[in-house]
Amino acid sequence: MTTKPLGLAAAVAAYRQAGVGGITVWRDALALRGVNESAKILAGSGLKVVSLCRGGFFPATDAEARQAAVDENRRVIDEAAAIGAPLVVLVCGALPGLPLAEARAQITDALRRLVPYAAQANVRLGIEPLHPMYSDTRSAINSLTQANDIVEQVNSPYIGVTVDVYHLWWDDRLEREIVRAGQRASIFSFHVCDWRSPTIDLLNDRGLMGEGYIDIRQIRSWVEAAGFPGFIEVEVFSTRCWAMDQYEYIKRICAAYLEHV
Ligand code: ZN
Repeated sequence: MTTKPLGLAAAVAAYRQAGVGGITVWRDALALRGVNESAKILAGSGLKVVSLCRGGFFPATDAEARQAAVDENRRVIDEAAAIGAPLVVLVCGALPGLPLAEARAQITDALRRLVPYAAQANVRLGIEPLHPMYSDTRSAINSLTQANDIVEQVNSPYIGVTVDVYHLWWDDRLEREIVRAGQRASIFSFHVCDWRSPTIDLLNDRGLMGEGYIDIRQIRSWVEAAGFPGFIEVEVFSTRCWAMDQYEYIKRICAAYLEHV
């Protein structure tokens, strides 16, 4: 998604060329190329598939819609297995007007129902807490505390968290919640970008690392001290950056990564 204009095939070639070792794929990209063709592109890419983004969006006003969401997430798990992704990242969902506590209860219930299917497919599920500014429509899980609470309630090695600095950097409990997740070995992925000030678009104005004010190195040190062994993923949604030459942009990403992460 960071280099969305390239599409999947060009992205994997460019990442490989740039010395990038892995890629997370969005379902949007799979929809464009088809799951089978995407799987072939990835299998021959030399890149490790880190995760599939994204599942989730569980809360709904009626039981049928909640069941449909669980069914849809089973399809996401199938797609992850098909492309060799060991992890599905979850944006868990929220509905305007649905109390956040009720939404979280619905999410917990949906995850309990989904976990056996994920285990059977050997695909893990990572709850990605989103910044509170998205708590109306995107996710009722807005802190690592809330995500860790649900991980403990669901209690399966197939459920864990995704730590994204953009969503969590403001939280004064972040370090201790990273430690808490580390104790269960439930940090499944780690996303970096930066918080621009002012931010002019709530969705698509993320900064490249070093363009904003997140202490990325500090958060990385906590995540690694907690035992997270995986990829550090650059995830930048940016209308400004998508308008650039994407090959030049990848060079800038690599430089920013080396300097600020
Ligand atoms: Zn993220």
